[in-house]
Amino acid sequence: MTTKIILSQGPVDPFSNPVLCPTDSAGTKINAGRYGCSRDNGATWHGGTDLRATAGTLFSSIYSGKVTHIRDLQPTDPNYRSGVGNFIIVRSDDFSIKYCHLSEIKVAIGEIVAQGTKIGKTGKSGNAFNVPFKHLHIELSTDFFATQNHYVDPEPYLKTKYTNSGSIAEPSDTPHNPNSPNHANCPAFAKEELQELESMKAVVEKILDRGSWNADTSAHYSGGQVMHYKVKNVNILGTTITIDSNLDGSRSLIIPPLTTVDIRFSCFGVEPLGWKLDISTNSDAFIVTWELYSTWVPTADIKITE
Ligand SMILES: [Zn+2]
Repeated sequence: MTTKIILSQGPVDPFSNPVLCPTDSAGTKINAGRYGCSRDNGATWHGGTDLRATAGTLFSSIYSGKVTHIRDLQPTDPNYRSGVGNFIIVRSDDFSIKYCHLSEIKVAIGEIVAQGTKIGKTGKSGNAFNVPFKHLHIELSTDFFATQNHYVDPEPYLKTKYTNSGSIAEPSDTPHNPNSPNHANCPAFAKEELQELESMKAVVEKILDRGSWNADTSAHYSGGQVMHYKVKNVNILGTTITIDSNLDGSRSLIIPPLTTVDIRFSCFGVEPLGWKLDISTNSDAFIVTWELYSTWVPTADIKITE
């Protein structure tokens, strides 16, 4: 039996006056910002709804829910421009919504967000980097993205309704409106974007551990190909921290007082990998708190039961 996390109220617009992207990324195919439209000359199809938004637009959670997944890669990461880019997944009672191509993420995994909460900023990460219309790509899954088989058209779940031609029909306050938009202008589905989804799954980071350090220490983990520390210096003095890893060398950097830094290690191999991490600092009195994210965690099942 599925435990209800939170009761969803009716939808709100993610930002004011949302309009559909008028074309696909090539800028030619009319109305192709909709779910199900053919992409790449029929090689793939569009698995979500594109709402136009200048990169950096603050957006809200359309429904209340719980943040279950985040992808927050740095622009220097080789995967930054692949797939749907950086994203947030918010799970509501009966479905999850994924907000994609983001430039900034303002929530953490596990956070409960009320409908209308500003959760991030739109952007162009992933394969939206060079598209003519910057947008918020929204995906919706009725099995909470556990498999690739339960994607549905997000449009009926949006507050603002669109006509067949893609122009705004009316704002609606009816939640879960079952009216199905007519995709008469869209070519039929070609094949699922399985490769993209597989590569995306491989870089989803989940929380593996958290804690604090006030003395040199070492740790062993069964972890993923990417191990990502977020380290916050909670002291009023700066400190230089060094982490030696057995699989990806050493990182050493200065953490100014009361700031957070990202320290990433990566190693290609079959997960789980055996990581050994030795943490040390140059100062006698240091206090940092940290969270460790990994592409592999022991409880890898993304279904939430609490
Ligand atoms: Zn899209």
